[in-house]
Amino acid sequence: MKINALVAHDAAQPLTSGQVSLRSLQKQDVKIEILYCGVCHSDLHMARNEWAVSQYPLVPGHEIVGRVVEIGDEATHFKPGDIVGVGVMVDSCRECHFCKHHEEQYCEAGFTATYNGIDKYTGDSTWGGYAQSVIVDQHFVVSVPRNLSLAGVAPLLCAGVTVWSPLRHFNVNAGDRVGVVGLGGLGHMAVKLASAMGAEVTLFTTSPEKGEDARRLGAKQVVVSRDAAQMAACRTSLDFIIDCVAAPHDLDPYLATLKTNGRLVLVGIPDQPHDSPNITPMVFRRLSISGSSIGSIQETQEMLNFCGEHNITADIEMIGGEDIEAAFGRMLKGDVKYRFVIDMQATRW
Ligand code: NAP
Ligand code: ZN
Ligand code: ZN
Repeated sequence: MKINALVAHDAAQPLTSGQVSLRSLQKQDVKIEILYCGVCHSDLHMARNEWAVSQYPLVPGHEIVGRVVEIGDEATHFKPGDIVGVGVMVDSCRECHFCKHHEEQYCEAGFTATYNGIDKYTGDSTWGGYAQSVIVDQHFVVSVPRNLSLAGVAPLLCAGVTVWSPLRHFNVNAGDRVGVVGLGGLGHMAVKLASAMGAEVTLFTTSPEKGEDARRLGAKQVVVSRDAAQMAACRTSLDFIIDCVAAPHDLDPYLATLKTNGRLVLVGIPDQPHDSPNITPMVFRRLSISGSSIGSIQETQEMLNFCGEHNITADIEMIGGEDIEAAFGRMLKGDVKYRFVIDMQATRW
């Protein structure tokens, strides 16, 4: 079945309205009419082939909220009319150690990405959420709490769970002192979620004008990272840092703000590597640096339930699909408060 979608044709051309074919509904599948799709910085990296893995044509979008319109013969988790979410994964091998232990994001065979992946059934590309509909195996679909505003839920499906997962995995607790680097889509969710968990949050930003927003979102302290005196004032004061920056930068000034046994978790994936940090302070204060990839389906559901209980959604700016290139341009300048979300039903195809 053909659907309308926003298609990237190569790294240099703007996205245009086009059509792609969805697979036929498999037994465990649900078909979802997409209501909203968030615009992740990864979509921009992929549309522009900044990670050198893009296959064209490509339909970005992995922060999907929509309504179930049809279910396969053996799909029992959802029924037509349910409001559901789909994030960065739509399948995995389901047999490896990680798949069996609810960590599909680390599937040894590699998870099937929501877009630019290989569909198990058709061998064709998977198509993302900048589109009218999507067909996904029920195991990779999550329920959306009904009290939340749906457009603001869309960014939780990638930005939300990507910061939730390391906060939970590394046992960040109430009272811990947590740094968040970069107030973008991921960073603003990290500020909201970590502060709702009871952590005392310090935001590091290159944009002094974001300070007031950061405090409103839950940060106790705001540090302008380009100001050496402000950075020096918080030396060895933090337990944990989550770095959400989409560009290469010096990690040493952030490591300097960690207490002994502190951990810096990198979730941003710049197109060029960061320079190696200085190892000596890491040795003498037993510091750790970790990476972290999105979150599992189970974690995504837990995070959505937590957001339902705490009434947390993303701060968004709604756009139509025709505005996507302008949105990408503003995202590159850090001019997003704090996630663009495409209103699919208002989009002129
Ligand atoms: P975003 O909304 O564009 O936010 C990035 C933020 O980083 C900016 O708002 C800015 O915050 C800061 N920043 C940008 N350029 C900078 C520079 N040159 N120096 C210092 N700070 C800079 O991006 P996003 O959607 O949150 O995504 C962030 C990164 O995470 C991307 O690389 C994306 O691909 C990656 N990602 C990873 C995963 C994963 O599974 N690990 C999942 C999703 C996304 P300030 O203005 O506050 O400085
Ligand atoms: Zn993403
Ligand atoms: Zn697996």
